[in-house]
Amino acid sequence: MKSLVFAANWKMNQAPADAALFMRTFVGQYARQTDRRVLFFPPALSLHSVVEAIHDRADLQAGVQNIHWEDSGAFTGEISAGLARGAGARFVLIGHSERRHLFGETEADTAKKVAAALKAGLTPVICVGETLPEREAGETLRVIRRQLRAALEGQEAGVVAGVLIAYEPVWAIGTGRTATPQDAAEAHAALKTELRALGGERSGAVPVLYGGSVNRANVAGLLAVEDVDGVLVGGASLDAEQWLAIVRS
Ligand code: PEP
Repeated sequence: MKSLVFAANWKMNQAPADAALFMRTFVGQYARQTDRRVLFFPPALSLHSVVEAIHDRADLQAGVQNIHWEDSGAFTGEISAGLARGAGARFVLIGHSERRHLFGETEADTAKKVAAALKAGLTPVICVGETLPEREAGETLRVIRRQLRAALEGQEAGVVAGVLIAYEPVWAIGTGRTATPQDAAEAHAALKTELRALGGERSGAVPVLYGGSVNRANVAGLLAVEDVDGVLVGGASLDAEQWLAIVRS
């Protein structure tokens, strides 16, 4: 049986009190399942509510949605990997399509953020995905392999086995459109091949999550794909009942 990762990206939603209420409902109703981990990516201001709620549950972990690559200093509005780690984060999303497309994050930035995360003891969840024009031009695999290589640029091969990857086609995020299981199978297999090339055989076991309009109705079909090791979920992770249904699938 494969080991699964379910990751909730709350984006700019769930104030501290809402996050605390959500987590009370979730933790009260979700019994640990040995074949899966559940990760929460609240807004940084609500991280404390999540960390407090999951404190003795090793199967539940918290992360942040973004970091700056510098350790500290005059970077108004930013948070460093060390600050996030000190506040209880264990994971960080890097290169989410909204960071790339709305905030101009470059592939070089993703490499600096991966390095900063690893240095501070955060596990990076590296997000890759093609736009619709790139898919239509038959560029999907070339684009996602390039994004993966760029984010891990400069890292020793031994480090690769310690990261997580999320394949999130940009055209599927928040749109209600989901990749077909065949699309996901092809992209995930290509990413696993690239991971092995970068980090050796052990890196073939790096979890590769699928993201893009996942919900309780389509999650089982995606998880049935051999190389899909979990899901990264935005909209459908905001409602505790729907999220419980997804993580139990
Ligand atoms: C995401 O934010 O990573 C995401 C996949 O969003 P949604 O599930 O809403 O498409």
